[in-house]
Amino acid sequence: MSSTATDVTPAIPTFKELALSEPLQRVLAEVGYESPSPIQAATIPHLIDGKDLLGQAQTGTGKTAAFALPILNRLDLRKTRPQALVLAPTRELAIQVAEAFQRYATHIPGFHVLPIYGGQAYGPQLAGLRRGVHVVVGTPGRVIDHLERGSLDLSELTCLVLDEADEMLRMGFIDDVEAVLKKTPPTRQIALFSATMPTQIRRIAQTHLREPVEITIKSKTTTAAKTRQRYWLVSGMHKLDALTRILEAEPFDAMIIFARTKVATEELAERLQARGLAAAAINGDLAQAQRERAIQQLKDGKLDILVATDVAARGLDVERISHVLNYDIPYDTESYVHRIGRTGRAGREGDAILFVTPRERNMLRQIERATRQPIEIMELPSVQTVNDLRITRFKDRITTALAASDLGLFRSLIEQYEAEHDVPAIEIAAALARLAQGDKPLLLEAKAKPERREFDPTASRERKDFANRSERGRDERPHRAERSERPRADRPPHPRAARTEAFSNPAEDGRKRVPETREPRAHAASEHRPAEPGMETFRVEVGHMHGVKPGNIVGAIANEAELDSKHIGRITIREDHSLVDLPEGMPPEILQHLKKAWVAGQRLRISRGTAGEPHGERDEATGQRGPRAPRTGAKPKHFARSGGGHDKPRKKY
Ligand code: AMP
Repeated sequence: MSSTATDVTPAIPTFKELALSEPLQRVLAEVGYESPSPIQAATIPHLIDGKDLLGQAQTGTGKTAAFALPILNRLDLRKTRPQALVLAPTRELAIQVAEAFQRYATHIPGFHVLPIYGGQAYGPQLAGLRRGVHVVVGTPGRVIDHLERGSLDLSELTCLVLDEADEMLRMGFIDDVEAVLKKTPPTRQIALFSATMPTQIRRIAQTHLREPVEITIKSKTTTAAKTRQRYWLVSGMHKLDALTRILEAEPFDAMIIFARTKVATEELAERLQARGLAAAAINGDLAQAQRERAIQQLKDGKLDILVATDVAARGLDVERISHVLNYDIPYDTESYVHRIGRTGRAGREGDAILFVTPRERNMLRQIERATRQPIEIMELPSVQTVNDLRITRFKDRITTALAASDLGLFRSLIEQYEAEHDVPAIEIAAALARLAQGDKPLLLEAKAKPERREFDPTASRERKDFANRSERGRDERPHRAERSERPRADRPPHPRAARTEAFSNPAEDGRKRVPETREPRAHAASEHRPAEPGMETFRVEVGHMHGVKPGNIVGAIANEAELDSKHIGRITIREDHSLVDLPEGMPPEILQHLKKAWVAGQRLRISRGTAGEPHGERDEATGQRGPRAPRTGAKPKHFARSGGGHDKPRKKY
């Protein structure tokens, strides 16, 4: 195979430098991506040029956008036959990739993507294909089925992506992949992504790819000897609560917290400020002078925490930084090493803490390999530890106040009060302590249930991984069976598939409101049915990964929109977002208000419709995907605040 090997260099271009169309630039700014990840920077120009590509990259590196953006960049929306096909090993990945396409295509009206995978009835897939789609994302077995049935026409295909090729190999799909490859027009471009490059994958590349550009992210082995590295596996509680516990219990001088997007840096800094911490955000939107001012304030001790993106923290050298906290895992090991290099300056010792979601464990392994250092698992400070510290601090405040010399006036006031009201001094002291504490509870409340552990640190990683892999394999391996229309009740749903659950709001039918433990409907693994008449589907940016429960969403919407919970309809919780049905005609000011509401440590950022949903039905009249837009002029029945002029919605329900 003749190939050009391109190593990712640290000089990352901006998205503006990549020749992406205006709607894509706009959405990237909106989702807050500051700069392309290394794999995106290396890949996008070649894919735009129409070259074949062999990319060594895994989940977490930003590879989905690396292929989705160039595909979206050159679609011909007038065509109804698929122009791009992405093959993915599992239905979860297929759904995620389809969601990513939909999200990046927010400003490309009329764009359609369809996920097709085993385990789902053929009906909706056939209907979707008949209606016409621009991009299909599918698991190999089901794609072959559609090819054999003649329902999938690849004659106009210009790009084929093989995503997680080594996983497809491991799961026994490689023959299917080759079969699909043979059914594509010889002129199509191929992008093959794989975390590893076993010989069979190389062979496929040699046989089917034409002079591919080969992209690998070189992991330099670097050590950061003076830095103690720990990770917390995100489970049982959302990241923001975990962060606040760490900030309370971990002695630190100054800290840099790394988040992936500009939006996230701002939101986090805002949350920390609200909790009384001296925190500020730095990201690429700040002018150089503002960034320098924030850094100077960190040096001077006026700020203790900077929440930063990788770009903004480049070259930051402040001796006080004792801790680096990776709130979002970096895309690659190089960034990790750069990030943790912000601490342990001038010969001092430093601490690095990494939040890792279960999906990101592979990246953790890779970081350990590249830095040749194990990263210790970290237990979050317990409620007891945090409370003991709070009590100690509270007592310290009393000691400091007692040491002040000007207590005379207060002493005589207390004496007077004691005499006038016949109340012992201890009671008066308790009342004053209560006043000093204000509305915020002094102590954290212990949870009734033990925190859910998704990970047993005593079990070996390999064993755990193997268990995960075999679970995953079980999901798709019997792919021959997947070609029949039999109901698949005999097959357990994939653990991750079960994470896309649909719930009905029990308050709808007058029962007790929103129990936290509502069971998912067995048949509704990933569907969010079109909203019922009079209702509209909304998307909120909080999902399983944030630990949200349906009750949290109902609670927030009911409170913030002052909407009786019985008007809140079906809720579907997905990995990183959820869908909720609400009465049609929500007034814009309530929508604005709800956008800013917090649930499970996230802003709701509610938006109309099912953008990003693979299953949105198309409205025959308008051709739009997702539920109908509210009728203009329709009286918004359930919302009191429809005409503006009120700061708060009027209480009507
Ligand atoms: P992937 O490796 O494609 O699964 O992407 C991992 C995560 O990184 C996803 O949540 C993306 O939304 C996010 N992401 C991808 N590209 C960027 C970028 N350039 N800046 C910030 N976040 C990104």
